[in-house]
Amino acid sequence: MTSVIRHLDDFRWDGVPVLNYKEEGTHFKAISRQVLFAGGPKLGAELRYFEIEPGGHSTLERHDHIHSVMIIRGAGHCLVGDAIHPIAINDLVYVPTMTWHQFRATGGQPLGFLCLVNLERDRPERPDEKAVAHLRAVPQVAEFIRL
Ligand code: MN
Repeated sequence: MTSVIRHLDDFRWDGVPVLNYKEEGTHFKAISRQVLFAGGPKLGAELRYFEIEPGGHSTLERHDHIHSVMIIRGAGHCLVGDAIHPIAINDLVYVPTMTWHQFRATGGQPLGFLCLVNLERDRPERPDEKAVAHLRAVPQVAEFIRL
């Protein structure tokens, strides 16, 4: 691997492809993924950069693996558990195991963040009807979530 990868401009890095957030689905909107560090046998973690365009959102999901997130562009809001938080540059977001979460670029600007995850991770779970009803019991959450 190259020792130094240049930041080009506008949160793009030399030789790092801008990928789809996920393979397919309608449960997310206007979000891209770049794998900055792919990890390996000596580093069991991956560092990704996600960017959500204004009005877009990540999947509402939960899973056993955890996320350590640092906002590095723009601003927005996130759901973690049953609370909505405003987030902006340099804020840190910790998503514990099996905790519902969703990121949205709610303002007129993109929301870009680094996300550190374990290299080996379980498949995300999306909320069933019962879980959605439970989430919607909190009015602020009901208004926020996108399915
Ligand atoms: Mn997740």
